[in-house]
Amino acid sequence: MPEPNKKKLDLHRREMPKRSPEVRRRNFNEVALGYPVETAVEEALRCLNCPKPSCISGCPVEIDIPRFIQCIAAKDFAAGIRVIKEKNCLPAVCGRVCPQEEQCEAACLLKKRGGQIAIGRLERFLADWEAAQGEREIPPVPSPTGRKVAVVGGGPAGLTVAGDLIRLGHAVTIFEALHKMGGVLVYGIPEFRLPKAIVHREVDYLRRLGVHIVTDFVVGKTRTVDSLLEEYDAVFIGSGAGLPWFMKIPGENLNGVYSANEYLTRMNLMKGFLFPKFRTPIKEHKRVGVIGGGNVAMDCARTALRLGAEVRIVYRRPREELPARAEEIENAEEEGVIFDFLTLPVRYLGDGNGWVNEMECLRMKLGEPDASGRRRPIPIEGSEYRLPVDAVVCAIGNSPNPLIAATTPGLEVGKNGNIVVDEETGKTSRERVWAGGDVVTGAATVILAMGAGRKAARSIHEYLCSL
Ligand SMILES: Cc1cc2nc3c(=O)[nH]c(=O)nc-3n(C[C@H](O)[C@H](O)[C@H](O)COP(=O)(O)OP(=O)(O)OC[C@H]3O[C@@H](n4cnc5c(N)ncnc54)[C@H](O)[C@@H]3O)c2cc1C
Repeated sequence: MPEPNKKKLDLHRREMPKRSPEVRRRNFNEVALGYPVETAVEEALRCLNCPKPSCISGCPVEIDIPRFIQCIAAKDFAAGIRVIKEKNCLPAVCGRVCPQEEQCEAACLLKKRGGQIAIGRLERFLADWEAAQGEREIPPVPSPTGRKVAVVGGGPAGLTVAGDLIRLGHAVTIFEALHKMGGVLVYGIPEFRLPKAIVHREVDYLRRLGVHIVTDFVVGKTRTVDSLLEEYDAVFIGSGAGLPWFMKIPGENLNGVYSANEYLTRMNLMKGFLFPKFRTPIKEHKRVGVIGGGNVAMDCARTALRLGAEVRIVYRRPREELPARAEEIENAEEEGVIFDFLTLPVRYLGDGNGWVNEMECLRMKLGEPDASGRRRPIPIEGSEYRLPVDAVVCAIGNSPNPLIAATTPGLEVGKNGNIVVDEETGKTSRERVWAGGDVVTGAATVILAMGAGRKAARSIHEYLCSL
């Protein structure tokens, strides 16, 4: 006899509608469209509401995932978004860009039984539902403590620190180098994956909570960390990893060879794709080669495709080892990005007028595992060939910009210029200075940067309360 109340497992994970590849490859509108209400409720009803949920430990900021999913199942969306916001101030962002498949969803018990719960899509659903309700309530902030904190950088790490500290009554000022807030969320991740209106809405929320925002302010140039310390009780550095790496191969200084940062900033932040309505000029490239295999490479390739180019991703390892999110690789493939796996560029050649027009590559094979345990790609001798290109975008990684370290005496930095911190608190080697996010870890993820911001905010609060 079957047990009467035992839930029958629904193994069918609900798909999220997206725009067709033919349409989306020619514009910058968001690709994924989000769950309609009925689908979100159906998906939420699949959750087993495990007594010992493993999804929570898969989430770097420990959102009470089963609780918010049960709220969706009960159609109490207002309660659901409140649960998420206990731990995450950027749910519309994280619901879109977090690598859920490696985090919360990887730990879901249904994963091995056909289809893990679509936790990220449900998070996004609640955030979008809230946005559709119109004006958000601004929670009361406690009376001012009289303590002042300066936050360097307006990316996910800085935004989290600012949000947490303002709600504890401290005065917070964010100093951002660019003219827009949001860090990589605005200058890196393209509109078709993360609409900028979502980021602006979250920044506006902080502003309305009372966070003071100063843009076009480069700490280390406009003012140093030491000079901020004269005015503020504590400084948090969340300046990210904005220094692009190049491969150091011949021809990299030719015109048409970009870093991913430059290419994406020109397109996303400075709206090059809307030239001449926006004044960022853009050359119409016909054949673009993108070097690398992470999210950054996918974003560059899909951006170039939308600008009308034929695009190839050149990656020195096989497809299974692409570090980008599975969803984004699929999207790129569907849209028509060509992939050259096990391929290494060795030099760029020019057209005689200073512009790149060819890329010379070597074919690779996998050798023995190296110290990291991964099989090392090794060149196949004599396999050189040339690809015609009129632009190359190098998306092989970034490290922190050295400016702050160079202008802050006594600030300990490690390999690649990353600021060294105490892992539990985010404290740096300098008194009253904390740091977190990509500037500490090197290029990582939004949610890890937010997690680091949360830890640092807790530690800064403890310090401010001890004064
Ligand atoms: C193209 C791209 C795609 C990505 N896709 C994903 C994804 O899908 N999922 C995911 O989880 N992560 C993704 N990431 C990584 C993620 O965006 C970062 O890990 C995250 O933004 C790091 O946050 P942060 O606050 O530490 O730094 P940032 O977001 O880099 O913000 C740092 C801010 O500090 C400012 N700044 C720097 N120096 C100074 C200074 N001296 N003075 C004042 N301000 C300064 C910068 O202008 C910037 O606004 C992607 C990254 C890129 C580049």
